[in-house]
Amino acid sequence: MKESLVDSLAQTLGKLPGIGKKTALRLAFSLVDNRELASDLSAILSETVTGVRECSLCRNLTADEVCETCLDLSRSNTICVVHTPADQRSMEDTGLYRGFYFVLHGSLAPLDGTGPSDLGISQLVERAVSINVSEVILALDSTTEGEATCAYIANQLESEQIKVTQLARGLPPGALVEFADSMTLSQALKGRRGY
Ligand SMILES: [Zn+2]
Repeated sequence: MKESLVDSLAQTLGKLPGIGKKTALRLAFSLVDNRELASDLSAILSETVTGVRECSLCRNLTADEVCETCLDLSRSNTICVVHTPADQRSMEDTGLYRGFYFVLHGSLAPLDGTGPSDLGISQLVERAVSINVSEVILALDSTTEGEATCAYIANQLESEQIKVTQLARGLPPGALVEFADSMTLSQALKGRRGY
C-alpha cells in the first residue's frame, strides 16, 4: 500500500516538465523521507493553486485582479507578447525591456484544437488599441507553432495600424524563449525587426 502511494506520487511528479521517471521516483522518496519539507510543499502548493489567477489585462499569473506590472504606469507604452509566464519572467530578467506584457498561455495549434480565442488574441488587440500602444513586440518561440502564431497576431494588429516587431536572429530556429540565456534574449530584443 505504502509503496503504491509513493509510486503514484512519483507518477504525478513525472508529469512535470523536465522530470524523468528516475528523478520523479527520487523526488517522491525524498519527500516521504523529509516530512517537514513535504508538508511545507503541500501547503504552499495548495495556497498557490487557489490564490493564483490570470491578470484580467495581460493574462500573466497574479494574486490580484490586475497584476503589478499592468499597474506600473512608469512602463513604456509597448506590449511584449509571450507564450508563458516563464517567458515573461525571462524577458523581464533581461533588464532591457520595461513595457507591458501579454501572455498567450500557448500557441496556435489547430490540430490540437487551440485557436485564437484560447490565446486571448482579441483581448490582446483590444488592450493594444485601448492603451494606444506604440509597438507590439512578438517574443515567441522560433518553432513552427510560434511562427504561425506570430503571423496570425501580426495580421490582426496590422489591420488596426499597430506597429508590430519580432525578436531578431540570435534565437536559432526551434529555440524556446524560456530557455534562451539572458544575453541571447537581450540581443534578440535589441535587434528586433518589423514584422
Ligand atoms: Zn497584468
